[in-house]
Amino acid sequence: MKLDEIFPKNRMSLNEIDKTVYARDASEYEGLCKAVVWPKTAEEVHQLVHYARRANDRLTIRGAGTSSFGGCVPADSIVVDMSKMNKIIEVGKDYVIVESGMVVDDLNKELKKVKKFFPIVPLESEVCTIGGMLATNCLGLETYYGKMQDWILEIKVVDGTAKVLDLSPVPARSFIGTEGVMGIVCRVKLKVLAKPIMKTVSIFKFNTLRVMLEKVNELENDENVLEIYYLDEFCSNLLELGGEMHLIVELKDESGLIKNKDEINSLNEMKKTLQHILINKRYGQKEDVKIPMEAMSKFLFWLRKNNVPSFAYLKLGIVHPCFRDYSNLPKEMYQIVKRLEGELKGDYPMGIKRKEFIPKNVQEQLAVLKNQFDPARIFNRGVLID
Ligand SMILES: Cc1cc2nc3c(=O)[nH]c(=O)nc-3n(C[C@H](O)[C@H](O)[C@H](O)COP(=O)(O)OP(=O)(O)OC[C@H]3O[C@@H](n4cnc5c(N)ncnc54)[C@H](O)[C@@H]3O)c2cc1C
Repeated sequence: MKLDEIFPKNRMSLNEIDKTVYARDASEYEGLCKAVVWPKTAEEVHQLVHYARRANDRLTIRGAGTSSFGGCVPADSIVVDMSKMNKIIEVGKDYVIVESGMVVDDLNKELKKVKKFFPIVPLESEVCTIGGMLATNCLGLETYYGKMQDWILEIKVVDGTAKVLDLSPVPARSFIGTEGVMGIVCRVKLKVLAKPIMKTVSIFKFNTLRVMLEKVNELENDENVLEIYYLDEFCSNLLELGGEMHLIVELKDESGLIKNKDEINSLNEMKKTLQHILINKRYGQKEDVKIPMEAMSKFLFWLRKNNVPSFAYLKLGIVHPCFRDYSNLPKEMYQIVKRLEGELKGDYPMGIKRKEFIPKNVQEQLAVLKNQFDPARIFNRGVLID
């Protein structure tokens, strides 16, 4: 079968404008897009993989394209835009089955009607797809709900040998967080909740880093603390909170000063707004690193010395330093992170940008999986592994 026999005219494009648009994602990288297709069914995805094998073509999988590390940048590939596979298939008592192009906020709007919700809500939830979230194994804003991997019950995936696999959580792990290099996820069964964890919030302000870190140490020993969200002075100022450092502490008991649900929700909205303001101020190069708590003060001092705006999820040790688009500082920061025995990956993907920093043992595991699921190297060429 040829490509135009698999897809009708309105769901396949060789148009130069489409090829230009799909040559990029939210990162600074640009690749070569050969064509764009918009599958609507798992069967079309299956035929597409068969086609790619026969024609020796490459496929780059795309959800909403918010990957800021180059995960959706094609390498002379056909871009597979999953956004039209966006239906809810079934809602059960404590699960939902969705197509992988479903946008997470749309899913939650539908689940709200039956008094349920899916708790992994990343910053870009208005557009992020379940497939992209699964492939990057992302966290949500409410980090204490864990990662995507904790909520997956089953997936349907087409691998690079054109096998359609229905996988339970353990075998599905090969496709979770591996950034689309093993196969195209078509359908996902997710756990859902009826009630959110009830929480209260307290906000603290600090003028010195030392005093702020003393408070963090104290909070870390409090078993009621769900998350400790840090804003440096720069980010606090952007949010019009004043010029001090802030800790926004989420607690699972009644001890937080803010108890009103709407007020608590507005804090989440504020976190979403922050990164858009940072992008507008040209601090668009957001990194995410994981720093051991004992090295946190050294790392935060380095960021402040170099005037790098940052915010962090301190309970997890994940820091998001935000660089100017034209800055050379990120490379210097990578060295600092290594010296402090931190990790260059907090919770965002490695994509193209950070793949050289993947530890050797992980690279070897990925190579084994790639040989098993995609020996012809069809998917996401250049992403994660070479
Ligand atoms: C401003 C900004 C903020 C962000 N905030 C966060 C955050 O808070 N937490 C976080 O973890 N990440 C964050 N990210 C990174 C990224 O947006 C998320 O990981 C998101 O989950 C990706 O969803 P998406 O639909 O845009 O996926 P895409 O960007 O389209 O794809 C991401 C990766 O998944 C693969 N993929 C997509 N769909 C499928 C599928 N159906 N089958 C197989 N592979 C697939 C793609 O090939 C790509 O490698 C952020 C990015 C930006 C630009």
